[in-house]
Amino acid sequence: MLTLYIVKNYLSTALVKKVDYKNVEIKNDSCYNKRERGNNMKKCDYCAKEITYFEQFCCEECEQKHKKYYDDSERHSKKFMVLNTIFVFAIPIGLFFGAFNKFVGIPMAAICCVLLGIMLILLPMPTEGMIKKRKLKNAIKVSRIFGGVVIGLGFLIFGLIFILP
Ligand SMILES: [Zn+2]
Repeated sequence: MLTLYIVKNYLSTALVKKVDYKNVEIKNDSCYNKRERGNNMKKCDYCAKEITYFEQFCCEECEQKHKKYYDDSERHSKKFMVLNTIFVFAIPIGLFFGAFNKFVGIPMAAICCVLLGIMLILLPMPTEGMIKKRKLKNAIKVSRIFGGVVIGLGFLIFGLIFILP
């Protein structure tokens, strides 16, 4: 029951993520524009190091990595959305069938959960809000940690095989 609740929760965050991702796509170009916020110190758009108001990045390397991230995410965004949707819906469906036949439903849910986690680590897609708040480098790190948590959740789901009657 608890796992179901967690999965449901994840489902809703994943759906929010998808919606947010659309915003990312739209705002993609404006990300390169300088955007000042209040009287905060300006920070490198990639690594969040403090910089002067005339710069957007602290060094060439950060600028390259920032550009590469947006190029990659644009290239893989469709793949990401399709796989994300399949996995996210397969988990509760697997759990549902798990109630009737745990040897079919539970492994299906667990494998999809682990695959979803692996995908989030390989292809981190932080939300626009996260990128704004933490800057790209840290937002990617947080997404990867979240992917790791999802993998862990997959193993927990697999553990249900031993718990369920
Ligand atoms: Zn930097």
